[in-house]
Amino acid sequence: MKYTFSAKNSESHILTVQVVIDKVNEERLLVQLPAWRPGRYELANFAKNIQEFQVMDQDGQELKYTKLSKDLWEIRVEKVQEVVIEYTYYSAELNAGSTYLSYDQMYVNPVNCCLYCPNKMDQECVVHVDVPYPYEVATGMERIDDFTFRTNDFHELADSPFIASPTLQHEQFDVQGIEFHIWFQGEIKPNWAKIQMDFERFANEQIDRFGTFPRKQFHFLFQITPYRSYHGVEHQSSTVCLIGPGYDLMSKRYIDFLGVSSHELYHVWNVKTLRPDDMYPYDYTRENYSRLGYVYEGVTTYMGDKLLFASGVIDETQYFKELETYLDRHIHNGGRFNMSVADSSFDTWLDGYTPGVPDRKTSIYTEGCLFSFILDVALIKSSNSNYGLSEVMKRMYVELACAGKGYSREDYVQTLSEVAECDMAPYFELVETPSDYIAEIEESLNVLGLEVEVVDSTSWTRRIGLKGNYAENGFIVSDVALDSDAYQSDIIRNDKLVSVNGFALNNDLDDWLSYYGRDKLEIGLIRNGQCRTAMISPDYANGFKKCRIRNLKTKSDEQSQNFELWLNN
Ligand SMILES: [Zn+2]
Repeated sequence: MKYTFSAKNSESHILTVQVVIDKVNEERLLVQLPAWRPGRYELANFAKNIQEFQVMDQDGQELKYTKLSKDLWEIRVEKVQEVVIEYTYYSAELNAGSTYLSYDQMYVNPVNCCLYCPNKMDQECVVHVDVPYPYEVATGMERIDDFTFRTNDFHELADSPFIASPTLQHEQFDVQGIEFHIWFQGEIKPNWAKIQMDFERFANEQIDRFGTFPRKQFHFLFQITPYRSYHGVEHQSSTVCLIGPGYDLMSKRYIDFLGVSSHELYHVWNVKTLRPDDMYPYDYTRENYSRLGYVYEGVTTYMGDKLLFASGVIDETQYFKELETYLDRHIHNGGRFNMSVADSSFDTWLDGYTPGVPDRKTSIYTEGCLFSFILDVALIKSSNSNYGLSEVMKRMYVELACAGKGYSREDYVQTLSEVAECDMAPYFELVETPSDYIAEIEESLNVLGLEVEVVDSTSWTRRIGLKGNYAENGFIVSDVALDSDAYQSDIIRNDKLVSVNGFALNNDLDDWLSYYGRDKLEIGLIRNGQCRTAMISPDYANGFKKCRIRNLKTKSDEQSQNFELWLNN
């Protein structure tokens, strides 16, 4: 299979893809475009971006085709040796998993825009990027020359994004004999010495925890935006991370920059190599349901941060802040009483990447991270060898992934139980039934000599149970805390609050709430074009609260020792 990418019209985001399929010996050839991309477990239906579509034989004669489904074509190929398919792909979306063509770059995620033959997926793929010098190409693919690359099969191609641009910035360093490359596309003045030092530390820590790295090279491809952004997508030999604004990257956004990088690197093992049975191999044509999101995203989220802390890249205060963010999200989400984490994982295919209807579901990232913390501490406590969750992931990686096998829930429970030297199955009730496991988290923190304090927000808007933002002369509600004052007065998402006790809001909801305190409130609002009123007698009891993690004032020797064991294992 040969793929050539060229710019038909950069300004208009129109990419031309040519696919050459040789050694055709069937009468009807099937070609498929993926319907989703690994890393985002929902259908994306990339075929909607295809504009022109042309099929020819080796002599340029047009071949007839019909569509069998939204993204499956059947081509009549009697007496044809070679099929050439040429199509344009509208590439106007820039995120960490998209394909984007503009005046200054050709950024391709092949899983979006590369057709494949279902019966030829194991064939070698050769990729040619048709761009002029001084363009360079950043990619994890094996390089044949400056603009030509190869992969062993379609799965590897689908997992190998590239950025071609004349403005890439690049550095390279070695960690434990593995070549790491960092590429920046977009406006950024990197402090290379600082970046390299921090990346070396967390990469080293991660490789130590697993013992080996599955590749000889790894490429971090950063899309730096001039606006605020944060998104990463994992691949086996690379990752694409979109983050911005560029002027804040080395300052305010630096920890987020390290956080997304550490998370995506951990994915090289956890999901790109060690993967649930349900997705092994990936089926690009339909939903690949899995209830194990608390492993592939949860453990990754947890370890991404923990290993930044363990390797000294971030300090205790910074680490606690990350954990507090997940605790806040946990207590802010009424969905924890309605849907388990495992079921929410299954349902990512339904509404995993939208806010969803209120209080319906949970997040595999947030809850998976907290569950992993509970397991990690439980292991440290019960294992005579002081092993933690890292040992579990290492064993699963070595025993299953390296043997070419996927894993099941039972494999995970069994490995956990082996390492803990006790039955770990009962813990799974926390993620397999709707549950609020704050008590378990408090217990785990206590083992490490830590505690969590749940405090009122300093924002009166949050205390009354509202999240949102000011727009169009009002406060647009984005979320309402379960059982809060706002909830009880039937204020709902998307309401536009316009007045408090007859006074028009002017970016000052918080000030009016603070002014009236516990007085009765008459909130004027607009819902679906109609003016309504909500009456509130606020007690500010069940608003959006904040979690603070801190060290116990007095710690036992055992607690201090547990903390060290937890951090280093
Ligand atoms: Zn992830």
